Amino acid sequence: MKLERSVALFNEAKVHIPGGVNSPVRSFASVGGTPRFIEQAHGDILTDVDGNTYIDLLNSWGPMILGHGEARVRHCLHEQLDRGISYGAPTSLEVELAQLITCLVPGIERVRLTSSGTEACMSAVRLARGMTGRSRIIKAAGCYHGHADAFLVAAGSGLLSMGTPTSAGVTLGAAHDTTVVPYNDAEAIVDAIAKGDVAAVILEPVAGNMGCIPPVDGYLAAIRKACTTSGTLLIFDEVMTGFRLAIGGAQDMFGITADIVTFGKVIGGGMPIGAVAARASIMDMFAPLGPVYQAGTLSGNPLAVTCGLATLSILDQDRTIYERINASCAYLAEQIRQLCDAHNNKACVNQCGSMLSIFFGVDRVVDLDTAMAADTTTYSRFFHSMLNHGVMLPPSAFETWFVSNALTDEHIAHVLRAVDLSLAELRVAR
Ligand SMILES: *Cc1c(COP(=O)(O)O)cnc(C)c1O
Repeated sequence: MKLERSVALFNEAKVHIPGGVNSPVRSFASVGGTPRFIEQAHGDILTDVDGNTYIDLLNSWGPMILGHGEARVRHCLHEQLDRGISYGAPTSLEVELAQLITCLVPGIERVRLTSSGTEACMSAVRLARGMTGRSRIIKAAGCYHGHADAFLVAAGSGLLSMGTPTSAGVTLGAAHDTTVVPYNDAEAIVDAIAKGDVAAVILEPVAGNMGCIPPVDGYLAAIRKACTTSGTLLIFDEVMTGFRLAIGGAQDMFGITADIVTFGKVIGGGMPIGAVAARASIMDMFAPLGPVYQAGTLSGNPLAVTCGLATLSILDQDRTIYERINASCAYLAEQIRQLCDAHNNKACVNQCGSMLSIFFGVDRVVDLDTAMAADTTTYSRFFHSMLNHGVMLPPSAFETWFVSNALTDEHIAHVLRAVDLSLAELRVAR
């Protein structure tokens, strides 16, 4: 595989950009090797600067649910481009997007747009604190809610309910207001709420940032109940799962309604966007109506909103898209399990909707501890084999693969042949 131009660009990038990338996982740090610099993408295919092509199962970390360059999305973007890029004033587009989201997602009456998922989650926590007058939040280990200080926190040692920073530059003060509990352990959340002063539980209803980990039976319902009885607000971080698992996201799929929901990724269709949504009595706490400050120069940007509107409208008008991508993903998962068996390679393949992850060397992954037990060296080898066979997976053992509506049956067969060949290569290496 020719790599000269990616290698040269990565060297040049490292001179001008920390680590050569604008978001850390892209650097291939956890799998080794040279990140592919991408020149273009069409449908389910990425083309790098050396002319190599890859079937895309990364899909920009989730947003590209329709695949790349969907005709109607491109048409809408071209039309909006001719009308201007940004005004810093309200537009009808924002009203339309908010209306569509409130129609499609359970329990939501108003929507505030941001420019990223991080901002949405950060603002959701501030909103919950403003609403309840309480300080602490509870998050589950391994769930990612963006890079705001309150979330870059790990469980404290021993019986301490206070978290400790996982990044330099996060203050103890910020970390101490976050309690971290294991994922899929409802009792731990009930106990943490009982210690008092908890404004919100923030949760990925299906975890996707430690690999894909679905909630165990009863988990979401138990948390919902504990939040309701204690007056704690339940925040579902649906930045990854919103409009991805179903038209109404994980709330829709599992029949549990949160108090506040955050979005990103799919609602922008690949443009930078995020959203906080809730019932009116909560949302009206935001400025200019209420005392919780929240703002953004480019929030509701016309191009981003146009791209999101076009994407969500297509999903809304053709619900069979979910049936198709979820079935394709379930098929991929089942076939990969069989191939792992055939190659005598112990692995756990988790799948939910159009999200999938493979954890090598383990039987069951339900939380961060069981995920961390997976064999990352094997994943790295597997990742590079797949890349050589023309398939782009996420460059980390703890990320989720995404199936887009552009993924063809022919390319699914190609992916499975690549998995077969890669597992065979792993066996030789063992
Ligand atoms: C991606 C993601 C975020 C952060 O969104 P950004 O747009 O990268 O800031 C937050 N929460 C979840 C669940 C995510 O998957």
